[in-house]
Amino acid sequence: KRVEVPASEHGIDPSLLDERAVRVVTTLQDAGYEAYIVGGAVRDLLVSRRPKDFDVATNATPEQVKGLFRRAFIIGRRFRIVHVIHGRGRDHEVIEVSTFRAYMDASAAEQVEGNEKTSKEDMAGKSHVVDASGRVLRDNVWGPQIEDAARRDFTVNAMYYDPRSQIVVDYHQGLKDAKAKTLRMIGDPETRYREDPVRIIRVIRFAAKLGFTIEPKTLKPLRTMSSLLANVPASRLFDEMIKLLQTGHALASLAELKKQGLDRGVFPVLDAVLAHATEGSAREKFVHLALADTDRRVAEGKAVAPSFMLACMLWHDVEAKWVKLREQGEHPMPALGQAIDAVFDARIGDISGRGKLATDMREIWLMQPRFERRNGNAPYALVDQPRFRAGFDFLRLRADAGEAPADLAEWWEDFSLGTDAEREALIEAVR
Ligand code: ATP
Ligand code: MG
Repeated sequence: KRVEVPASEHGIDPSLLDERAVRVVTTLQDAGYEAYIVGGAVRDLLVSRRPKDFDVATNATPEQVKGLFRRAFIIGRRFRIVHVIHGRGRDHEVIEVSTFRAYMDASAAEQVEGNEKTSKEDMAGKSHVVDASGRVLRDNVWGPQIEDAARRDFTVNAMYYDPRSQIVVDYHQGLKDAKAKTLRMIGDPETRYREDPVRIIRVIRFAAKLGFTIEPKTLKPLRTMSSLLANVPASRLFDEMIKLLQTGHALASLAELKKQGLDRGVFPVLDAVLAHATEGSAREKFVHLALADTDRRVAEGKAVAPSFMLACMLWHDVEAKWVKLREQGEHPMPALGQAIDAVFDARIGDISGRGKLATDMREIWLMQPRFERRNGNAPYALVDQPRFRAGFDFLRLRADAGEAPADLAEWWEDFSLGTDAEREALIEAVR
């Protein structure tokens, strides 16, 4: 049932709105289409948080949307949407515009057998496809708003806000759930986790980020359904893990994963962390400090690099393999290179398009033994490396965790900031 909630009831503060998102909505409305701010942004507004990004839903097709904006791109195959771009460089902003979609259950869709590869050919020309386990592989059938609401995941994620009339459109009592801080799956939870197992991770992420409680029926199938995550393409799972760890709620997310028994066996990177870091150890402290630092930086509005965070998460795995290779008689630097390759193979796998990420992580790790060489020209060469700062921040975290000498981190701090004369004195002092 469609409920229209006026501003006096939902209490959204219009000053939390993003001007550019509002402009996208009004441009669509002025062209005669229905358009709303939708999903996570409405949820965040209802709990008085400034949304980090704004999504727009409309009854205009992607082609019609594209025609209304100067810089707009149709992207995605599994899920075709339009990116409307504003601004340039650092403060450029992307508003995602999606067309209302029909909700189809597995029986209405064209079912294809098999894995990601075979299904791509079978999917040609079809707009809604599921695999044998019920997982939705393509979802591009347009439909009315009521169905668009039903195919969204949680009630609090399925509301529409019209910035002009300030009305919230709510089909699933999302407003009530938002006020009660409850995450409730729309429809039958088990079926919905089957359609898209990534919802298992999403519910954890929202619980951690918003401090919401997962309602019992939504919670119950979580653990048994988690085996379905094995069918999700590794790159999508990797992106979800980055969202868990990189959007300012890493420690809370890890705690929530643990609480639901999903901290092991889902993400190979987390398995690597837990394999090496026993509670109370320096290794655990290191990972904890790294994630706390990431959370703090996000809270302060600073940039965070996934390469740095991942380098922290996988460091002990690299170190353990490095030690083993040296014990087998390999020289230190080649051994470190081999250890890094092995860890990438085991924990990250072949994820295309992430060359830069891998290069940055490798540089951070390869710099660590070089911090121990403080004679001759070595320190000058190291400090001039373009990635010195990341490598040094990593060393400092190691020192804070008690895994590297505190005076080594201090020495490098002084050296990097010092004048020529101070640098000479610093090198002299450790001769
Ligand atoms: P965040 O604060 O992380 O951006 P969000 O709710 O906006 O949270 P998005 O991934 O940006 O999450 O998705 C936008 C909206 O699209 C969601 O609010 C939800 O309505 C819908 N959605 C996204 N992913 C799914 C999914 N896997 N299943 C069903 N609906 C989804
Ligand atoms: Mg969003």
